Amino acid sequence: MFDLKTDVNGVLDELYSAKCKNYEMICPILLPLGINQASAITFSKHIFNEITVIGSVDKKFVVVYAKLKKLLIIIDQHAAHERVRLEMLMNEYTHQEIEEVTFKQSKLKKTIPLKLSSDEVRCLSSKDVNNHFRKLGVSYNLQGNCMDIVAVPTCLYNNVFENVDTEKDKLLKLFVSSFIKEEFDFLKNSRCFSKTIPNFLNKIINHEACRGAIKFGDVLTTEACQNLVQSLSLCKLPFQCAHGRPTMVPLTNMRKMPPKVERQKVNLKKLKAL
Ligand SMILES: [Zn+2]
Repeated sequence: MFDLKTDVNGVLDELYSAKCKNYEMICPILLPLGINQASAITFSKHIFNEITVIGSVDKKFVVVYAKLKKLLIIIDQHAAHERVRLEMLMNEYTHQEIEEVTFKQSKLKKTIPLKLSSDEVRCLSSKDVNNHFRKLGVSYNLQGNCMDIVAVPTCLYNNVFENVDTEKDKLLKLFVSSFIKEEFDFLKNSRCFSKTIPNFLNKIINHEACRGAIKFGDVLTTEACQNLVQSLSLCKLPFQCAHGRPTMVPLTNMRKMPPKVERQKVNLKKLKAL
């Protein structure tokens, strides 16, 4: 007896698998990456040479395709722009030489007086300490137990004068005294000069980079996405935002079926007999 149910299913299975094979020849297969696989993929700057921008997704991410690695990658639009801005601001606010970063300074119209302990006066009288603060953008004169600040780091100055509406002088004094206190504490505890950028200035520049960066929810045209990826490719550390979060993450591996795939024949006799 002709078993319609079994045969129909058989024919459909054959048709389906034949169709699938055809599609697999032209469509990439999506292989979602597990957490372990994704974290095993490391990016180097060469990745930017093989990237094609696809476009913006959900007003949050830029999707790109890395042709050689066959990876679909998402770029966090805020984190990426924050990194671009951070490196731009570091260039604007510092002179960077091979092993030394010197902060540019802004001269004050009105000096800021700070009272000091005798320990602090002794410390600040040293030529090396004076030099150290000068490299951080702070210039001062000592008068008795008072420190007269005549110049401050430009990043700190701009942060107060460009973003605060009232009590700018008061806020600047608070910022400068906190910064100097932090440096004193470091000198006291470590008994050496730090070679890295002080936390206080780092935070200020990171904050400025974040504040002016593209946000989630901002609409990016394809051209804006391309410009963002291009700017990111020119960064020294393109794979982390100012706060250390990744700027780009592999989403999925895309590969095509190997070229030699035998196509299954559809049983047309069975199909006609239906
Ligand atoms: Zn941010």
